[in-house]
Amino acid sequence: MNSESLEEINAPEAGDTAPYIGWERRAVIDLSAIRSNVKQVMDLVAPAKVMAVVKADGYGHGAVQVAKAALEGGARWIGCAHVAEALALRDAGIEAPMLAWLHTNDTPFEKAISAGIDLGVSGWDLDLIAAAAQAVQTPARIHLKVDTGLGRNGSTMADFPGLIERAAKYQSEGLLRVVGVFSHLAVADEPDRPETDIQLAAFDEAIDMVEAAGFDLEMRHIANTPAILSRPDTHHEMVRLGLGLYGLSPFEGESPATYGLRPAMRLMTKVANVKKVTLGQGVSYGLRYQTTAETYLALVPMGYADGLPRVATGAPVTINGKTYPVRGTIAMDQCVIDLGPDINPNEFLGAEAIIFGEGGESVTTWAHAANTINYEVVTRISPRVPRFYVEGTWGEAGE
Ligand SMILES: *Cc1c(COP(=O)(O)O)cnc(C)c1O
Repeated sequence: MNSESLEEINAPEAGDTAPYIGWERRAVIDLSAIRSNVKQVMDLVAPAKVMAVVKADGYGHGAVQVAKAALEGGARWIGCAHVAEALALRDAGIEAPMLAWLHTNDTPFEKAISAGIDLGVSGWDLDLIAAAAQAVQTPARIHLKVDTGLGRNGSTMADFPGLIERAAKYQSEGLLRVVGVFSHLAVADEPDRPETDIQLAAFDEAIDMVEAAGFDLEMRHIANTPAILSRPDTHHEMVRLGLGLYGLSPFEGESPATYGLRPAMRLMTKVANVKKVTLGQGVSYGLRYQTTAETYLALVPMGYADGLPRVATGAPVTINGKTYPVRGTIAMDQCVIDLGPDINPNEFLGAEAIIFGEGGESVTTWAHAANTINYEVVTRISPRVPRFYVEGTWGEAGE
């Protein structure tokens, strides 16, 4: 099927099973979880506004659908890394305030300004943005970004007074308006570390500088998901909610349920083959696993081309309510699980296999098996896996 027909079946009715037919691999996204996660965070941060961060195709969940659901849930802003991502959302009819913050000298600033997209400014980009504003005869709305310690984008504290001065000149010429100041935290997911306090003190200092220069700021923002959840003193006028929007926890050893968050993605497929093998059967490339007794092996038709981390040997797959570890190396299209000797193969062939999400194990368990973080696992689920959008837990295995 092509992508058009995919879109047609993107909004199934609750209880309708038709969209599943023929879709052996699927990421099922619960948009009611997205809305509920926004509400949960709004309760926590009010009166601060929520910016829903939907970069990287909504962390793999689908940027357009997630942005719409987040706005329905009460988010007031949409955040993207790239201007191109924000423009795609405008093209899809999303009119909410938007901010993009990661640019190169090829970024289409004129289009961004014309489309009413606010721009994060680190320093070098200010002149290009002012020139673009001149060209389209529309003042740019900018948020000055200060590097308070992360060492990535943003002006250093040392260069910040100079950036403020240049921005003031352009503002007086009517080419832009400085509406925000922002920064990004480095270790907020490790609440015991001291560097967050140091960053917050630097951020306060940067805010003072901007206010002393006479700018009338609409908002200051620094909180990402871990700071939203653990540091109320970071909320200011707006928070930038990424991971938590998708119902995942940024903290090692703490589940999203602790914060009332619901994971939005379930990654599912069906068992493609089941067979009895003898002791000593090698499994998958490199034969890095050998069966230790007679057993049944099940073939799961998802692999690294679908976004499963190739190194995630031992990661869990849930079938018929029980969890089995992946054995051997994950291949491009498939992986193998060992069901043990005491199963009825007829109950497994064609059964729903939940890689992660409701009814199965968590994204975080997969992340651990791959020695990475849940952010990386969801953002890398590939376009080969069709996304389905549902409300609630419709589409559970076995329905
Ligand atoms: C990705 C990103 C966020 C969202 O971070 P989460 O930890 O996913 O909430 C916020 N701000 C900036 C600048 C980002 O790049």
